[in-house]
Amino acid sequence: MSNCAIVGINWGDEGKGRMVDLITQDYDVVVRYQGGGNAGHTVVNEKGKFALHLLPSGIFRDGVVNILGNGVALDCESLWKEIQEVAAQGVSITPDNLMVSDRASLLLPWHRDLDGLEEARLKDKKYGSTKQGIAPFYSDKFQKKTVMAGELLYPRQLRSHLEDLLEWKNLTLTKVYNAAPYTIEQLMDWVADYGEKIRPFIRDTGAFLRQAQAENKRVLFEAQLGALRDLDYGIYPYTTSSNAVAAYAPVGSGLPSARIDEVIGVVKAYSSCVGEGPFTCEWFGEEADRLREAGNEYGAKTGRPRRVGPIDIVATRYGVQCQAATNIALTKLDVLSYLDKIPVCVRYELGSQQTDRFPFPALLAEAKPVVEYMDGWGCDISGVRTWEDLPEAARKYVEYIEKEIGCRIGYVSVGPERDAIILR
Ligand code: GDP
Repeated sequence: MSNCAIVGINWGDEGKGRMVDLITQDYDVVVRYQGGGNAGHTVVNEKGKFALHLLPSGIFRDGVVNILGNGVALDCESLWKEIQEVAAQGVSITPDNLMVSDRASLLLPWHRDLDGLEEARLKDKKYGSTKQGIAPFYSDKFQKKTVMAGELLYPRQLRSHLEDLLEWKNLTLTKVYNAAPYTIEQLMDWVADYGEKIRPFIRDTGAFLRQAQAENKRVLFEAQLGALRDLDYGIYPYTTSSNAVAAYAPVGSGLPSARIDEVIGVVKAYSSCVGEGPFTCEWFGEEADRLREAGNEYGAKTGRPRRVGPIDIVATRYGVQCQAATNIALTKLDVLSYLDKIPVCVRYELGSQQTDRFPFPALLAEAKPVVEYMDGWGCDISGVRTWEDLPEAARKYVEYIEKEIGCRIGYVSVGPERDAIILR
């Protein structure tokens, strides 16, 4: 059995969805193992252009089973909306090609409320949350104060569990945030509406995966966000609230015995970042606007303009190490074609020292980028499909990154379409 994880090396939005869509042709099962509906994986293929938030990106391939594992934040409401939207574009989504783990915990209506309330309380110190309720959800999951999807199959027990949670959660809503409390009727209405819609997809996906493993099926693990947003290894507290690293994939998927044979780390040919927090190589002004426009760097979920800058070798090398990547997909190389000189952040300046090691989060805000320039290639490369046909300057850029980050670059993407890829 050959398993693979597709993960982000940087701050997210590297083009993971695009790579999963490409690579699923060789896999039987695709599992999302963490995160929630705050993802924005854009996929362009023969069926159209899609912005996926919670659905695994293997949903377009016939015969592929897509699983939302126990590690995800299961937002029934946004999942249902997404199923409707994608199905309206002609993609068949049934309990045969989409399965939801009975052990995935439910993101409840109050999680979204609390996300907004806390960001409002923080004012200018806010984390830049997408306000999808992810942080309050994971806090509750680890406090054992939410319910699992499988409980939707047992309404009587579910009601009594929700009553217990309600009493506790209303204390926070009313006393901490001065917000309106929830009633059990509201919650049961929500269960009757969205819970019912998702119910047919819920099953013991752990058993399904163990069976798939026994039959030597190939499993692809799909991450959300990137190493620098990982709760334990990222730029805490400006991280997400789950583990985006590949090492978590077997646990969050429901197949803890899985060995991951290949970790494909997705790296963008420049840097982008959504939300708050230190972003050392950030560009501002016209320079940033130009790159943002060239790369169409606006959030798929929120439409927010993304912060952009040159590739950051220090952060990328660290991301590769955290992910234990065995192969890199370098995406959006075509976007840099407009630049005469290609900037690269090669080191950081920290106090009086220069360093090539990624600093501890508390020091990151003080780091300054040391930028060097490489030759640009000065022509459109979006139609190139072989390594030999890439201009020499573009090849040199790829080879330079490969050497500096210490991992083979096996894929170079030059466009959003499925076939706009160079295999090395
Ligand atoms: P993800 O969350 O990691 O899947 O990344 P996003 O989907 O948020 O962002 C990647 C964006 O870049 C999407 O709009 C993709 O369609 C687009 N994209 C992916 N690869 C390429 C590429 O090689 N060139 C260009 N121009 N666009 C790309």
